[in-house]
Amino acid sequence: MTSAQSSAETYQRIVLVSRPKGVVVPGNFELSTVPRPAGTSLATNEVLVKNIFLSLDPYMRGRMSLARSYALPQPLNQTMLGTTAGVVVASKYAGLKEGDYVTGQLGWAEMGVTTGDKLQPVDTQKIPLTAYLGVLGMPGVTAWYGVNILLNAQPGQTLVVSAASGAVGGVVGQLAKLKGCRVVGIAGGQQKCDYVRDQLGFDACIDYKQARSGQELQALFSAVLPEGIDLLFENVGSSIFDASLFNLNPHAKIALCGMVAGYNGIAEPLKNASKLLTMRATLQGFIVTEHMEIWPQAINELTGLLLNNKLQYRETITEGLAQAPQALIGLLSGQNFGKQLVQLTSNVVPGELCKILT
Ligand code: NDP
Repeated sequence: MTSAQSSAETYQRIVLVSRPKGVVVPGNFELSTVPRPAGTSLATNEVLVKNIFLSLDPYMRGRMSLARSYALPQPLNQTMLGTTAGVVVASKYAGLKEGDYVTGQLGWAEMGVTTGDKLQPVDTQKIPLTAYLGVLGMPGVTAWYGVNILLNAQPGQTLVVSAASGAVGGVVGQLAKLKGCRVVGIAGGQQKCDYVRDQLGFDACIDYKQARSGQELQALFSAVLPEGIDLLFENVGSSIFDASLFNLNPHAKIALCGMVAGYNGIAEPLKNASKLLTMRATLQGFIVTEHMEIWPQAINELTGLLLNNKLQYRETITEGLAQAPQALIGLLSGQNFGKQLVQLTSNVVPGELCKILT
């Protein structure tokens, strides 16, 4: 990736310059410097935002590809898409003023201009800005939708969630515990499993990296799932999904949220798909942005839980826009621990309430 520097008159952005063949590589991206828009040049209803944090999400790998999907591919040579949280620098939109904090779709860039109706104002008095990209953002709403609407989790049911220490998985397990479920997570490594059990309060966690074969993986599942799986929130796919399928109970429900293990094109085939039939399972794939009607309720409930210390979350914050490609590559191989973010400006302390920084 080419390097570049921003100044008072410029800012940096990252564009997609080529599509990955298999794994994402840094050369798929290019960092460039572009002129900073002047606040005075804004059109009516436009807002200039200084981005403070960029959210990196597994779906970005799908958009880098031309494969047919639920959304159009990211065009080449344009700013990489992504959700950001930042502060308004100049505004010609009545509903926003300089200094307001917002989230929006401003992409992999230090600044951006958009119309005010496409930005969501956020309150950073009691909640850190980063939370609006994770537990109170798209990942949190995804978890809420799966647990409450698709799985309709009930007390006493056993719910399994993969990528359990991640942005979505961590919230899934905590919501299900609050509903009275027995919750088993699946995560890669002892440290992630300890966190899921000890900090998030899951009943058990399977460290799939301890298994050297399909048989060993199955033994790990059997040890903590003697009564099988009633509800499955699937984030990973591949051999991990397969092991869960083997343990389904009759009439199990599956919320198929993601299949991240295959996003680089290397998913293992399922051997236990017949369990969907023999266990008469219901499987529903979903895309949370197609259910905008539930977002207000979901965010409202998640905010209440967060403010009452009933939801914990964890973040991996990478510093500097130039590091975003490497951070996405890491996310797609499990190197993140919790919500993966990129900090785009140096004068803010992550985790602290935002006070200001233009
Ligand atoms: P996470 O924060 O969970 O990060 C991804 C995690 O996935 C990694 O930490 C790793 O966890 C696991 N992982 C990554 N690569 C692999 C691999 N090759 N094999 C096995 N595990 C891997 O991400 P999110 O919480 O943001 O997303 C979780 C899932 O939810 C993704 O599949 C994503 O696409 C999906 N999603 C779907 C939405 C929808 O609307 N359907 C909306 C939002 C997310 P570990 O180290 O524990 O294996």
